[in-house]
Amino acid sequence: MHKNSDFMAEKKSDLGNSSTEGAADEIKMKLSRLKAKLKDSKRKKPVTTPKSTPNKITVKKKEAKKQVEAKKKEAKKQAEAKKKAKKQAEAKKKAKKQAEAKKKEAKKQAEAKKKAKKQAEAKKKEAKKQAEEEEQAKKKAEEEAKRTYEEELEEQLTEEQITDFQIHKTDMDKLINHICEIVATYGNNGIHQSDLWKKLKLTSRDGSRLALKLERMGLITREKILLKGRWTYKLIIIKSPIGTDSLSGAPCLVCPVESKCSLDGDISPKTCQFIEDWVLIELKTKKSK
Ligand code: SF4
Repeated sequence: MHKNSDFMAEKKSDLGNSSTEGAADEIKMKLSRLKAKLKDSKRKKPVTTPKSTPNKITVKKKEAKKQVEAKKKEAKKQAEAKKKAKKQAEAKKKAKKQAEAKKKEAKKQAEAKKKAKKQAEAKKKEAKKQAEEEEQAKKKAEEEAKRTYEEELEEQLTEEQITDFQIHKTDMDKLINHICEIVATYGNNGIHQSDLWKKLKLTSRDGSRLALKLERMGLITREKILLKGRWTYKLIIIKSPIGTDSLSGAPCLVCPVESKCSLDGDISPKTCQFIEDWVLIELKTKKSK
């Protein structure tokens, strides 16, 4: 507005200086054109510039805001995805850790089981060993219980001490013959050695040594038996020693068929009636003594 009034003043001054009507008209025309231009410009101003510029800015701002929001949203989405991935990774890690712990625990349990099995086997083995030892001890005890005084003597004495055994002030040949005669009367059934020692009034110590001596001489055999809960021996005759006294009455010395007599012949001591009669008489005679 100031610009226009200045312009008008300037033009009025110009007009004052001009004197021609043509020039005034020209100025008037110029003025009206300027006025019209000014009017146009005033009319267009609110329509074009002031209105269009703020809309574009708003759109741009809105777009920018939208983009920012989209960006923000995207960033948020990415952050969430990242967070989710992190969470998943952590969960995976945790699951892996748990699986490893489980595996470790299972291994531990398996080892404990194995150890327990081993211990059970060792215990079983130990129990078996103990049972075997107990069985052996029992057997040993049984063997010990079965052990006789004669067996101990056999361990303690030498063969020479057994065969050379003598009883003080006793005719050993006579005693041995006498023992064999008694044992022979019991035949294959034999006689309990304790009964025999009683008959002969011998101590168990001497009797046991005599029994060993007679066995070594091949005159008797000893059979181990359990008598009244105690292990002892039954003496059985193998052969009787023949003394010169008994031989003096032997039928063979005066036998008429002695030349025809042989062990495997028709005439034989195995079937000889003379021999049988002679033995019976001899036995009876000795029993009566
Ligand atoms: S065994 Fe009899 S048959 Fe032979 S020699 Fe003696 S007594 Fe005679």
